[in-house]
Amino acid sequence: MRTTLIGIIMLATLATTGCENKSSDKASGTSSAVTAPGAKHAAVGVRPGSHADWCGEHQVPESMCTRCNPSLVAAFKATGDWCVEHNLPESQCLICNPELKIERPPLTGAAKP
Ligand SMILES: [Zn+2]
Ligand SMILES: [Zn+2]
Repeated sequence: MRTTLIGIIMLATLATTGCENKSSDKASGTSSAVTAPGAKHAAVGVRPGSHADWCGEHQVPESMCTRCNPSLVAAFKATGDWCVEHNLPESQCLICNPELKIERPPLTGAAKP
């Protein structure tokens, strides 16, 4: 009798703890996935071409965002990748190239070979 009761209590405790762990894991995972809530621009020092390298305001890689970094304009002009009409790199000009899709690089794990 007694053993059964203890067993039930232990089971209940385990189940509750397991549930709590699961939900808290989920919550912390979500919060850590968001690098900086509310931040529209990539942090300083992110690797160009990485998931973090993204300008949320202009929907282009931050390292290639001429609107955030006007100093990049010369480099685009030098390679002939420049839309004079819209003051944008031709490769980012959705007005001239409506079919253009600039996709954010996928988020990859920290472990790299
Ligand atoms: Zn930008
Ligand atoms: Zn254009």
